Amino acid sequence: MNQRVLHYCVCPACRSSDLRHESEKLVCPECDKTYPVIDGIPVLLPEYADEKQNRYLKNYEKLARDDLETPIVENRFMLLHQSLIRFIGSVRGKSVLDIGSSDASYLLELVAKEKVAVDIALPYLQSIPPESGIMRVCGDAEDLPVDPGRFDVIIISDVLEHLLDPERLVSKLSQYCSSKTRIIIHIPWAESLDSYRDGQYEFAHLRSFQNYNLRLLFRDFRVKKSRYGLPDLTHPFLFSLEQVMPRFLFNRLVTLYFLTDLKYVEYHYRERWIRELPKRQWWLLRLYPGQFRMFDLRKIATGSESRTFIGRYMTFWKTRLENSDRSPDVAPRAAGTDAPHAESLGKS
Ligand SMILES: [Zn+2]
Repeated sequence: MNQRVLHYCVCPACRSSDLRHESEKLVCPECDKTYPVIDGIPVLLPEYADEKQNRYLKNYEKLARDDLETPIVENRFMLLHQSLIRFIGSVRGKSVLDIGSSDASYLLELVAKEKVAVDIALPYLQSIPPESGIMRVCGDAEDLPVDPGRFDVIIISDVLEHLLDPERLVSKLSQYCSSKTRIIIHIPWAESLDSYRDGQYEFAHLRSFQNYNLRLLFRDFRVKKSRYGLPDLTHPFLFSLEQVMPRFLFNRLVTLYFLTDLKYVEYHYRERWIRELPKRQWWLLRLYPGQFRMFDLRKIATGSESRTFIGRYMTFWKTRLENSDRSPDVAPRAAGTDAPHAESLGKS
């Protein structure tokens, strides 16, 4: 085992950073838990109390083995990871953590001072060559077995849609990261979950992100930059113009589309553009919605908002609303107004 990895690891049970390496296992002096080291990889998985979490772990081990044998997404590197690498930019001289690294396909390409790959599935980590210099840690993102505060850059790519409770990961980032830590996320954007319902794997994509639930999850962070990835060319561009065009003009175009050979010409090009992706991505994304979105986030200092003028005024307003709700002819409200978060995150 690369001893340097101990600088980053923490006990997933008690978050002690004092793990000791003793004969092919790590021992936590705080809570006495022991963790195996397999093929030089510390396996810092939590003890799962319920059966669902154990099923989740087994599911991802199977998915990893299947994916390594026959990639689940064809051309994943070309279609997604190349633009992610460009979005991340230079990380030279930085320490980089990749949460949910899979087989480190993009992490291998990054030039950094130190790179740590965390994944729940041991088979993925075993497939990363030890000579790549990437430190590998098997762990659950929700019980993150590394200290996020020790990294300059943290990448969370195609992970948040898979977690049972992403709040548990994001709250740790919020607690330990500084305003200088770059948090890079890559997620499917506003996707339909229908195709995952009867899929081969039980815990595939558990939620779909759009602006509200993403910003709610990362409410302690600001977006420094963001970019769309992989255009969705399912529908002809023409049909996205309804909102920006006078009705008569839009009607005319729709009629021309269906009643002339415009539909064949349009399809000919669109089919070719789909086939040749990621070529032309930069301009296609101006016309078609992106299937993915990347964000570069920074922690903000929170806690003083309620003392600002708007904060105080909103408290005054809320009190007024509560008082009017308590008036005799209005029934009292059951739910508190302080924390609408959990139910709106759409957990499944
Ligand atoms: Zn411990």
